[in-house]
Amino acid sequence: MNQNKRLYPTSFNPLSIRPSRPIPKEIVIIGAGTIGPDIGYYLKSAIPQIKLILVDVVDTPLKKAEKRFADYTNKALEKRKMKEDQAKAILNNIEYTTDYGLIKNCDLVIEAATENIPLKQRIFSRIEELVSPDTIITSNTSSIPADRIFSKMEKPGRTTITHFFAPAWRSLPVEVITWPGTSQETVDYLFWFFAQTGKVPLITDNAICFMLDRIFDNWCNEAAYLLEYATASQIDNVAEEFVSAGPFYVLNMANGNPIIIETNTLQMEEGTHYRPASILASVEKWVTHRPGSKVEVTEHGKGMIRDRLLGILFSQTFDIIDRGIGTKEDLNYGCQIALGFKKGPFDIMGELGEAEVSRIMKKFQKERPGFPMPKASFASYQDFKRYLLVDDVDGVKVITLRRPQSMNAISDEINNEILGVLKENANKPDVKGFVITGYGTRAFSAGADIGKFPQTLGNFAAAAQYARDCAEVQLFMDQMEKPLVAAVNGLALGGGLEIAIRCHGMVATKNASFQFPEITLGILPGIGGCIVPYRKWPQGAKLFHEMICLARPIHAKEALEMGMISKIVDNYPDLISAAIEEVKNLQGKIKRIPGGKVEIPEITISDPPMAGKQTLSKEAVSIIVKTIKAGAAANSLAEALEIGYRGSAEIACTDAAKEGITAFLEKRRPEFKK
Ligand code: NAD
Repeated sequence: MNQNKRLYPTSFNPLSIRPSRPIPKEIVIIGAGTIGPDIGYYLKSAIPQIKLILVDVVDTPLKKAEKRFADYTNKALEKRKMKEDQAKAILNNIEYTTDYGLIKNCDLVIEAATENIPLKQRIFSRIEELVSPDTIITSNTSSIPADRIFSKMEKPGRTTITHFFAPAWRSLPVEVITWPGTSQETVDYLFWFFAQTGKVPLITDNAICFMLDRIFDNWCNEAAYLLEYATASQIDNVAEEFVSAGPFYVLNMANGNPIIIETNTLQMEEGTHYRPASILASVEKWVTHRPGSKVEVTEHGKGMIRDRLLGILFSQTFDIIDRGIGTKEDLNYGCQIALGFKKGPFDIMGELGEAEVSRIMKKFQKERPGFPMPKASFASYQDFKRYLLVDDVDGVKVITLRRPQSMNAISDEINNEILGVLKENANKPDVKGFVITGYGTRAFSAGADIGKFPQTLGNFAAAAQYARDCAEVQLFMDQMEKPLVAAVNGLALGGGLEIAIRCHGMVATKNASFQFPEITLGILPGIGGCIVPYRKWPQGAKLFHEMICLARPIHAKEALEMGMISKIVDNYPDLISAAIEEVKNLQGKIKRIPGGKVEIPEITISDPPMAGKQTLSKEAVSIIVKTIKAGAAANSLAEALEIGYRGSAEIACTDAAKEGITAFLEKRRPEFKK
C-alpha cells in the first residue's frame, strides 16, 4: 500500500473528516510539570468554554501551573493580543487538583506525567477505572511506543499517543500516533480535533521516539559527540546555518540532557550507534551563545562539523521515510514548524544536490558506522509536494494549501505546485475535477508572499513580466476542461482571492470573507484582480470598485447575494462535500470568462480615499481606476489581462508602492503622500 495512505487512510486534510463525536466538554491533563500546563493553556485558549482539570500528585507544580496561566493571559493582555473577557473565559472553569476522583466525567484525558513506563502504566490503569468507557485517553510521551503503555488496557481502541512540542501552547504540530491496538475512529477524531483547535496534527507510526524526535534527539546527541573536536558554541554556530538556534542552546532552554540520554538509550534497541554521548550525563548547562552571535570557527572545523550534522540529519530522514514512520510531506514540514529548521531536510538535500549528499553520507558511514543509509534513489526522496495535500474524493482531487503558519499565503513555490497538480491530472480520464481549499479554520489563503515584487519596484518591464509570470496558474485554470471549485474556508485575501476568483465555481463557509487589500500597500491586484471580477459578475461591479480601489472586505452573505459564490455552508466537511457537488454540476458546463467589452458604472472615490481609518494614496487609486476602466473597455480577455499586468507595473513605479512595500517590510503603517 502507498506509505502515505497507510498512515492517512481516511484523508490527508484533517478537517474534511466528519468527526464521530463533538468537541469535548471536559478535558483532563495528568501531570502539571513542564509541558502539561502548556497543553492545557492551548486547549483553554482554543475552546474557552471547556472545563479543564489539571491533576498532579503534588501541590507545587499545580500552584506554579495556576500562576503560569495567569502570566500567559497577562502577557497577552499587555500585548493587546487578547481582550479582558477572553482572558477571563480562559482562566475560568479550571481545577488544579491532586484528586483523581474529579476526572470521572471527562471526555478526553491527556497524560503528561514523568517519562517512565511503569509509572505511565499505573496511571492509565487508574484512569481506566475512573472514566467512562467512551473517554479518549492519550499520552504525551516523547519516546515510548504506544503498545508498551496501553497494551494492558481493557479498551485500548480509545487510546493513543498525542505528542506535543514545546512550547505546546503555541507550537503548531502534534504527532498523533497510529498503532495496531487503537481504532481508526480514535485516530481520525484526534486528527480532526487538533486541526479544529488550531494545531497541525501529523499522523506518525508507532516507532520509538515517533518521527520528529528521532531527528531532534539524534541531532543533539551527534552535537554532543562533536564536542571532542569543537566547543558547544562553535557547534551551535555551524548548526545555525540550518536551524534558528543550535542544539546546545536548545538543550539549555529545555533542560534537555536527561531527555536525550533517556530517549537515545531507548533507541539503542535498534543498534548501539544510538548510544547517548556520555558527556550529556555530566553537564548541566552548556557554555554557548545567543543565536546569531559571531563565533570563530576554522574553515576545516566548520566543514567537519557541518558534514557530521548533515550526516545524522539525512540518515534519520532517510530512515524515517524508508520505514514508513512518517510521510515526506510531514517530515519536511514538521522539522520547520516543530524543530526550528529554516528549511526541511529534503529541501536542504535538494539544494546540495545528489553528489554532495552522497559524499556526506559516505563520510558519515565511515565515521559513524551502523547508522541507516538511504534505501531509494535521490530523486524519489525529492518527489513530493512541499505545500499541498492532495486527497482523492470520489474521483475529485481535493488540493489543500497547507501553510497555516502564514495563513496559507501563496508563494511562487505554491503557485508552481498548484500548477503541477492541475497539469498532472488535467488529462487523466478517472479525474473528474478539482477542489482547492485552505488548511485550518481561519483562512483559504490570506494573500500572496511579497515574493520578488520588491525587486521590480521602479522597473516597469520587470514588474509587468513578474505579473505575467505569476498569472501562469490562472491562465491554465481559464482553459481547463475539468471543473475547478474553490472551497473558501475563511479569509480569501489578495493573491488568495486571485486564485479563488479564477476557479470555475466557489462555495464558502459562513465565516468566509473576501478582500483585495493591495491598495493599502499602494499596489493593485495585478494578476487579473482588476479585470476578471467585472467580466464574471458584472452585476457586482459597484462592489468591486470599492473592493479594489478602497480595500473593502465583503462577507460570505454579500458574495452569495452578488452571485460570486453559489453556496454557504456551516462547517468544513460540508464545504468539501458542497465543492465536490459543484464540480459534478459543472461537468461540461464551465462558463468561460467573457471576452468582450463590459459596461461598468462610474467609479466615484472620496477625497481623500480611505480604507477604514487608513488614508490611501491618491496616485495609486487613480492608476487602479484607470486600469479598471481600460480593462473593462478591452475587446478580449487577453487584452484586458495585459492591461491589468501593465497597471501593476505602472503602480510598481510609483512612490506609493515604494512606501507601501517598505512599510510592509518594516512592519509599520505606510504614510502616503497627500
Ligand atoms: P516534568 O517532569 O516536568 O513533569 C511531570 C509531572 O508529572 C510532575 O509535575 C510530576 O509531579 C507529575 N507526576 C508524576 N507522577 C504523577 C502521577 N502519578 N499523576 C499525576 N502527575 C504525576 O515532565 P514534562 O517535561 O512535563 O514531561 C511530561 C511528559 O511529556 C513526558 O512523558 C515527556 O516525555 C513528555 N514531553 C515533554 C516535552 C517537554 O518539552 N517538556 C515535550 C514533549 C513531550
